Amino acid sequence: YLTIDGSPLVHTFKKGFPRDLIGLTTPYDKIFNYQTIIDQDGQIFDHIMTDVATTQAVLHFGLLHSELNKRAWNDLQQILIMSLLAMCLGAALSCQIAHVTTTEVEDATNDLYRERRFLQNVIDGVVDPIRVLNTNKKIIMLNQSAQTELGNEECLGEKCSSCFEDDVAKENQCPFDTVAKTREAVRILQHRRSKDGSLAIYEIEASPLINDEEFEGMVATARNITDRLRLEASLDEKESRLLYMSHHDLLTNLPNRVLFRNRLNQALARNPKDHHIVLLFIGLDRFTKINESLGREIGDQTLTQVAERFRSCLTEKQTLARLGGDEFAVIIEECEHPQNAAQTAKRLLAQLMEPIHVQPNDIYLTASIGICTYPEDGSDPKTLMSHADIAMTRAKAEGKDRYQFFEREMTQRTTRFFELENDLRKALERNELRVYYQPQIQLDTQQITGMEALIRWEHPEQGMISPVDFIPLAEETGLIVAIGEWVLRQACQQVARWHEQGLPPITVAVNLSPLQFRHKSLVRNVARIIAETGINPSSLELEITESMIMDSIDKSTATMIELTELGAGLAIDDFGTGYSSLSYLRYFPLTKLKIDKSFIERVTSDAHDAALATSVIALAHSLNLKVVAEGIEHEDQVQFLIQRSCHQGQGFLFSHPVPATAMEQLLRQIQQN
Ligand code: C2E
Ligand code: MG
Ligand code: MG
Repeated sequence: YLTIDGSPLVHTFKKGFPRDLIGLTTPYDKIFNYQTIIDQDGQIFDHIMTDVATTQAVLHFGLLHSELNKRAWNDLQQILIMSLLAMCLGAALSCQIAHVTTTEVEDATNDLYRERRFLQNVIDGVVDPIRVLNTNKKIIMLNQSAQTELGNEECLGEKCSSCFEDDVAKENQCPFDTVAKTREAVRILQHRRSKDGSLAIYEIEASPLINDEEFEGMVATARNITDRLRLEASLDEKESRLLYMSHHDLLTNLPNRVLFRNRLNQALARNPKDHHIVLLFIGLDRFTKINESLGREIGDQTLTQVAERFRSCLTEKQTLARLGGDEFAVIIEECEHPQNAAQTAKRLLAQLMEPIHVQPNDIYLTASIGICTYPEDGSDPKTLMSHADIAMTRAKAEGKDRYQFFEREMTQRTTRFFELENDLRKALERNELRVYYQPQIQLDTQQITGMEALIRWEHPEQGMISPVDFIPLAEETGLIVAIGEWVLRQACQQVARWHEQGLPPITVAVNLSPLQFRHKSLVRNVARIIAETGINPSSLELEITESMIMDSIDKSTATMIELTELGAGLAIDDFGTGYSSLSYLRYFPLTKLKIDKSFIERVTSDAHDAALATSVIALAHSLNLKVVAEGIEHEDQVQFLIQRSCHQGQGFLFSHPVPATAMEQLLRQIQQN
């Protein structure tokens, strides 16, 4: 043993020579081992040790030179031990040491010390704990972070696993054997208990230390990835939530249009040879009315229950989706005969036979279903979906509450619909629109008390088109505003003309469409037309429906008040088909109530309709409203109504809607009588 200045050094260790710290071989710049060693007096020394490989000797340089020197010289016993040891180590070592001159040792020691210090600084700068193990799995080096983590400096020279003594760490897998065997880096996860007792997950990256193709140990970095894993888990959760949201309808939790299309694509990709794929498009009938009159919340609850009922009558393999609004769709794969789909459609329709209970209402709903099949009706999702949609529209047009298979010629009809829209745009300028009039009769005296203006379209090729067929189109395209204003002007001009001709004063009722009613210039236009034509405002009556009022009660009430302030009457048309609460009626400035023809049709055959018509008549009287029965076709309906004190009626029994000239004749007849 030599000190840095070349003098012999003897230093005693508490536990004898720390054999495991021997890591230094000559030449000195190759591998060295730097350690902090505490002696029996608790003194700390920095040491560099070198193992002279051939002789297993130790070069041991204490850096507290003066102190060590003093001890060395003072402790003869140590000199003896050293001499003895030197003798035992034999001549070879003596030879070797002899070669190492004092200055060489000094230089080497300085270099090694600097390198060691630098290396330690570098690894101390790494935030993650780093441990270096020798082939005996003992820690020969560790950085500051590892030291802090272990909280135990004694770990140096200890078996690595024994440093983690808690219950969790013992369960961990040690990468050492794998690294030693494969000589390749491995990455594993370990559980460790943190100082505060919480469980942490570490990612261990262990790499082999190879020198001259010899395995000399392992370097292991550990990274606490608990927070990262937690973050990843929450991101994963968020991502899957987002994915779910983008593929599902959140009200009913059914697949939405995107997922439905994906499933349809997948079904087509499977390309069944001997089976059909069937697509059902389901549209709830008149659902908007529920939303308009009972509010969105009840509408939503209704949709949720409808979805549940539909789901309950389908199999797991059949996809049910909500495409939006009141539209649902079903994919049936592996359908042997397309006609089997009719059974499914029937089952779906049957689900709505019982009313839907959404407190405090019992809601009666029906649906229309369009059916199309692959490969007969289309080979790609877009065509199939469009054809099923067309079939559904057809089912609605045919009277609703039914299913309809797609037929090729239906597409021609849709094309016609677009042509119709084009034609309607030009109908006004081409003077193709007509106003017909249908008289309203005092039931007991059979006198004409008023009339309703009803629009007709005299199409150059298609002949007379009913408003039922083109008013919705006009509403959809916004053309209704101009058309409605035109009807209003025509009707008022006609009344003025008849008045000029000395015919008896008569009221004319003009229908307003929802869009027209909501339009900001409605009141101004009505006022202008009354002024332009010079009619008595009380001879004009405007017909609106329950849903138009309920759409936005405050706004509609304001409009109604403004219209009645002009002097015009206000009638509720098609009463009984909406869902408005009857008690509301008293708050609106109405003058007339028209009972819808669907009730009048069965007043003499259906007790329910008879009771309903009776109570509506009583209600109208109690609210001081005039009441008119629509759609009277038979004499017994007249008798029924007279008995219930419904004094006015309108219907084919008295007259179909007729052109102005025919109406004029009817008026003249009254005059003559
Ligand atoms: P609405 O206002 O309820 O008009 C009464 C409808 O019942 C008329 O159909 C009339 O022809 C029909 N009708 C009258 N008596 C009977 C009968 O005894 N039996 C049967 N089955 N039907 C009868 P129309 O003219 O086809 O009009 C249908 C609907 O189109 C009207 O229903 C109204 O909502 C709308 N409409 C008509 N003209 C206009 C208009 O100028 N503007 C707006 N916005 N809508 C209009
Ligand atoms: Mg009407
Ligand atoms: Mg009506």
